[in-house]
Amino acid sequence: MKKIVALCIIVCCSLPLNVHAEQPVVKNVILMIPDGFSAAYATNYRWYKGRESVMDSLLVGMARTYSASSKVTDSAAAGTAMATGRKTNNGMISMSPEEEKMKTILEAAKEKNKATGLVVTATITHATPAVFAAHVPSRWKEEDIAPQILDQDIDILLGGGTSYFLPVKEGGKQAKRNLIEEAEKKGYNFVPNKQMLQEAKGQKVLGLFAKGDMSPELERNVEQEPSLADMTTFALSRLSQHEQGFFLMVEGSQIDKAGHHHDAAWAMKDIEAFEQAVEKAVQFAKEDKHTLVVVVGDHDTGGFSVGGYDKYEANPELLHSVKKTGKTIMKEVAQDKKNAEAIIKRYTNISLSKKEIQSILQAKKEDITLNTTISKKLLLGWTSTVHTGVDVPLYAYGPGKELFGGLIQNTDVPLHIAKLMGLSL
Ligand SMILES: [Zn+2]
Repeated sequence: MKKIVALCIIVCCSLPLNVHAEQPVVKNVILMIPDGFSAAYATNYRWYKGRESVMDSLLVGMARTYSASSKVTDSAAAGTAMATGRKTNNGMISMSPEEEKMKTILEAAKEKNKATGLVVTATITHATPAVFAAHVPSRWKEEDIAPQILDQDIDILLGGGTSYFLPVKEGGKQAKRNLIEEAEKKGYNFVPNKQMLQEAKGQKVLGLFAKGDMSPELERNVEQEPSLADMTTFALSRLSQHEQGFFLMVEGSQIDKAGHHHDAAWAMKDIEAFEQAVEKAVQFAKEDKHTLVVVVGDHDTGGFSVGGYDKYEANPELLHSVKKTGKTIMKEVAQDKKNAEAIIKRYTNISLSKKEIQSILQAKKEDITLNTTISKKLLLGWTSTVHTGVDVPLYAYGPGKELFGGLIQNTDVPLHIAKLMGLSL
C-alpha cells in the first residue's frame, strides 16, 4: 500500500500542472452591464413594455454593490469589482485603494489568447469600459484612459468619445497625440458611422460614433449611429471567428445617465435598446452552446421607484408618449420661453399647470425639474440625483450560469467567469 501511495505521488507530481486543473467549461463570455439598472428599473420597464422582458426569463440572483469606501458605489468602483474581483474606493479604475494595479478579466482573457471587445453607448473611456482595460487612480482622466485602452490591443472597441483620441488642435483633449492615427498604425480599422461599421474589414475595429457620449436611444439618428444591438451583433460576428474564444463586455451606458437626470422616458427607451442587445447575445449563445451570457447592473441610479407620493399607483406605461429627453425639450424651451407649456405638451403629451411651468423655468437644473415633475404625474419616484446602495438583479444564460445564483458579491462576477473560462485573475 505504501508503495502504491509513493508511486502515485511520484507519477502525479511529475504530471504537467494543467492535468490537475479543471477543464474550462466556457469558451466565450458576454458580460452585459446595464449601467444604473436596479430592480425598480426592471419592474417599471416590464409595465412600460406590457409584458415580461428578455432579461426577466434569465433571472438567477442578486448582486451586492457596495464599494471599499462606501455603501453607495460609483461606476468606477462597481466596475472595478466586476472587472478585477476586488473592491476599491469610489472613483478608482482597476487600482486598489493603495493605488496598486489590479489585473482585469479582459487582461486575463488576453493571456489565454482570447479575442476581446468593449461595446458601450457612453465614451469608450468612461468608467465602466475603462475598468476592463486601464488602471488610473481617477476615472475623470479620460484623456489618460484612452491611450491605455489602445495599448491593450482589444480587437473590437465601439462607442463614443472621439474627442479623447484627438489632439487639442483638432478639437480633442489629447495634448499632442492623435490616437486615431496611432490606432490605424497599430492595425485598427477606424469607423466613424453606422454604414462604415457595417462595411468594416479586418480583425481590429475602432468605432467611435460621437465626440462625447453617443445619443440617448430616444434621439438617436438611426442612419448615422449604430444601436447597441447593431454594435453587439457586429462584435459577435467578428469575435466568434477567433478559434480560442472571446470575452466581450457590452454596456447599456445611457440608463445611468437618464437616472442622474430623473428622466424616466430616456431610461425606459435605453433599457429597450439594451434588451435588444441582450436578445442578440442570447441568440448567439443558444446557437453556439459554449457561450455564457451574464447580465448585471453595477448599482441603482436615482433611487428610482415604482409608485410614490403616498399613492398606491404607478403609470410607467404613459412614458411612451414622451418623445424627447428633458434636456432637449428644455433647450427648445430656452429659445421660446413664452411657449413653454405648448412645447412641453407637444413632446410629452402631459399638461402642466402654470405653477409647474413657472417652477421649471426658475429651477437651477431645469431639465431635472421638468423630468421630476413628469415622473410625479406618473407616480414614479426619485430620491437622489446620484446612486443608491440597493442590490441589483443578476441574469445569466448558458453553461455555468448556476454559479451566479442567489445573493452574490459584484466581485464574484469576474471570479466565476475566470473559473469557468480557465483564466487566472
Ligand atoms: Zn454605473
